[in-house]
Amino acid sequence: MLVFEMQVVDTEAVTQQANPNLQEAWHLGCTGRSLEALALAGEILADAEARGDDRLAAQCDTDIAWYCFQIGKAELGLTHIRRAVDFWKLNGERKQEACARAYFGWLLLELGLPEEAIEEATRALDLADKTADPKAQSLATNVVGIIFWYNKQPDRAILMSERSVELARLIGDRTYECWWLINLGGAHSEGGYIAEALGRPEEGHQMLVRALELTEQALDIATEIGDSWAARICLGNKAEFHSHLGEHDKALQCMERYRLFQENSYVRDRQQYLYTLGQIYNNSGKFTEALSPLLEALELIDAGGSFDSYVQIYLYLSQAYEGLGQFDQALEAHKKYHQAYLRNSAESTQRRARLAEIYYETKRFKEVAETESKRAETLEASYQKLQEQTDILANAVYLDALTGLYNRKYLDSRFKALTSEKRPYSIAMLDVDHFKSINDNFSHMIGDRVLSAIGTILRGQLRITDQAIRFGGEEFVVLLAGTPRGATDICEKLRSAIERWDWSEVCNGLHVTISIGVAGSTLSTNSPNEILAIADQNLYAAKKSGRNRVVA
Ligand code: GH3
Ligand code: MG
Ligand code: MG
Repeated sequence: MLVFEMQVVDTEAVTQQANPNLQEAWHLGCTGRSLEALALAGEILADAEARGDDRLAAQCDTDIAWYCFQIGKAELGLTHIRRAVDFWKLNGERKQEACARAYFGWLLLELGLPEEAIEEATRALDLADKTADPKAQSLATNVVGIIFWYNKQPDRAILMSERSVELARLIGDRTYECWWLINLGGAHSEGGYIAEALGRPEEGHQMLVRALELTEQALDIATEIGDSWAARICLGNKAEFHSHLGEHDKALQCMERYRLFQENSYVRDRQQYLYTLGQIYNNSGKFTEALSPLLEALELIDAGGSFDSYVQIYLYLSQAYEGLGQFDQALEAHKKYHQAYLRNSAESTQRRARLAEIYYETKRFKEVAETESKRAETLEASYQKLQEQTDILANAVYLDALTGLYNRKYLDSRFKALTSEKRPYSIAMLDVDHFKSINDNFSHMIGDRVLSAIGTILRGQLRITDQAIRFGGEEFVVLLAGTPRGATDICEKLRSAIERWDWSEVCNGLHVTISIGVAGSTLSTNSPNEILAIADQNLYAAKKSGRNRVVA
């Protein structure tokens, strides 16, 4: 054993030492800021590729695959992870290969390819066991556990997940411990549902209670290490388990805590929160309350929410209408549910077929290529998705992580485009009033939450033609289509929405207002920078004349 371990170079430590930035990205990914993590790792990847540092690139690819999973872009993750697997394999780095294959398996499962997922995950476990590296073993065991869970074999799932949690504890990795506990809880809930369906309600009850305990443990860790991504999953799961046990008040309490984690979430997260809430209300017979989150969740489809959730949402909607005795609407929603269901299964069948094709094609290709050229297949495999990948990374680069609004870099690119704009447009400059004293009186953390909430409010209030940008600190720029007259009305709406927002939810005794300066393009002034300068002067005037107002 000892001799064997000595042969294993701890290559991960070497890489991480050389790449504190990648470590920083990992930290972001473990604290609920996956989009930021993705952007940072994307930059490091581009740099590594430019310098021909293939090893670092493979490390980036591995991590990026995971961030893609976290933000619901499993397909994109696949491109990265395949490149990584290839590299580790070619270079005989078995521990890294084991980890990459484990993520690969997880992504395949997420994309509805269970058989292929099992194959990758078992190879990952085999490799991990050979290297006897507990971290790789922990990850691979967990993935095998999830596959059993999804395939409705909770006993085996529990066994594997328990082992993965043990290993995470052994190496003291709190993040892994937290994530694997969530899965262990999930496996128990599956066991509970199956026991109930088989007419063993007592056993089902016990399993769900255990699922709740495990998820609670995960939530404690998530809270302690600040992983809001994991915390959201825990709270949604807990609410569902409570609701299933008929503990509706507790379910709603979880949803209330879940809501507090919404500020920094992305559209998909938000949508999931909303329809879970609808489902919880439905289960507790509160159909009126169920309607509004469900309708809001529907609206988010256009804003980039997941189309997969369409089916869920319409199903819950029809249940809510039925509960209210509004049978026409119930039928209408049910029809939509059915249509969406059919469309979804057709789409996912096609997607599966396409993915399977890529998967097997690559494997066949690999067998031939193994003895011949080694690089070609990697190139071939990654080429198709390169375009999509560039788009996503570019998007992440243009977003401000705290507020979810566009960032300064985006503004610069818009300004370039606006220079030749013929249609009238306006620019508003917003600044939070006395923000320094919010930081001083309430804490910097509350200050951050105020900024994040302002991001949410602006996104909620603006028309589709307008864009909000975090200019820096507590200053925002809004680009509005049309003349200053219309823009001023909208700014007044923004100002009043912020003043009327229930800030006591962020912190007791907190009040927030903003001042706004507006200016528009005219025939003589049409350079965006000039207009911005005038908006800034108007902002200054708004501040001088008492704040909490709009000056155009
Ligand atoms: P005024 O009404 O005149 O705008 O007063 P003010 O206090 O808002 O203005 P000032 O520009 O003096 O203060 C802005 C403060 O914003 C200072 C800075 O510490 C704080 N700040 C900048 N960026 C952030 C951030 O990302 N988070 C937090 N919490 N505070 C920030
Ligand atoms: Mg300021
Ligand atoms: Mg200010």
